[in-house]
Amino acid sequence: MEPSVVISGLVKKFNETTALDYISLAVEKGEIFGFIGPDGAGKTTLFRILTTLLIPDKGEAFVEGFHTVKDYKKIRQIVGYMPGRFSLYQDLSVEENLNFFASIFKTSIKENYHLIKDIYQQIEPFKTRPAGKLSGGMKQKLALSCALIHKPVILFLDEPTTGVDAVSRKEFWDMLGKLKQEGITILVSTPYMDEAGRCDRVALIQEGKILSVDTPGGIVKSYANPLLALKSANMYQLLFDVLEYSGTVRAYRSGEYIHAAVKKNTKQEENIKVFLAGKGHEQLVVKAIIANVEDSFMALMKIAPTLMTT
Ligand code: ADP
Repeated sequence: MEPSVVISGLVKKFNETTALDYISLAVEKGEIFGFIGPDGAGKTTLFRILTTLLIPDKGEAFVEGFHTVKDYKKIRQIVGYMPGRFSLYQDLSVEENLNFFASIFKTSIKENYHLIKDIYQQIEPFKTRPAGKLSGGMKQKLALSCALIHKPVILFLDEPTTGVDAVSRKEFWDMLGKLKQEGITILVSTPYMDEAGRCDRVALIQEGKILSVDTPGGIVKSYANPLLALKSANMYQLLFDVLEYSGTVRAYRSGEYIHAAVKKNTKQEENIKVFLAGKGHEQLVVKAIIANVEDSFMALMKIAPTLMTT
């Protein structure tokens, strides 16, 4: 089967900034494909090219077999796009926004109601409220309903969960799972590495380059160093001290722990404990753990990992 999206050597520059630096990959039909990377990685630029809103400087891309520049009109009919920043009309009500997007595509809420039902039902009680007066999670549901109302075969969701609370984030990913079952291909970007596990495959993107494309399981499998989770009464100082330890390859905060990748050596756990106790750390916990997707991404990143959201 022909892939849903084919990206071949895309380059896009804005003056001195190279937003995309020879990006190539393919997304299969029916996949939930995640682009994960920090602010400024190039995710929005890539989505704008794929949804025909920007023209690349070099390279080309195809969406459902259509060329993003030559066949832009055809692509616009079949894609749903939820831009990063809230794109709805703030003064129009929930229902008016949805009607507006339906009418652009010469359809009606009624015609495709089944597709948005699960999502829209949650905001329908507020259908007369202006979109600008909705909570973050409700805005996100309305924006997704608007992106779906013309029954797209492929969806582009640019950071749909940024600034949304943890419960709404989870609900949102559950909704995407249902849309996948409808056969819709979904490309989604996010700065949250913990969302990688909800995707079939992910691309890690940084400074306009793809660092890795794999399944979440495949990414974890390729992790090279032993990994320790550490905690003490003084977490701030602990990070500095862990970084000073000679066996540390990299260390960063992850939830209530510090994760430290260490050089292969069976005694690392004991040795680092002695080293940190010598630095005066109390209530010290050191335990060996198995790397998750976030740890694997940290290993691939080139810049300060604190720039990523964990
Ligand atoms: P992301 O979506 O991952 O945050 P973007 O695609 O928005 O990344 O941006 C990639 C880089 O390109 C950033 O350095 C950004 O400042 C720059 N950029 C994006 N759009 C423009 C623009 N219209 N003019 C100038 N620079 C831009």
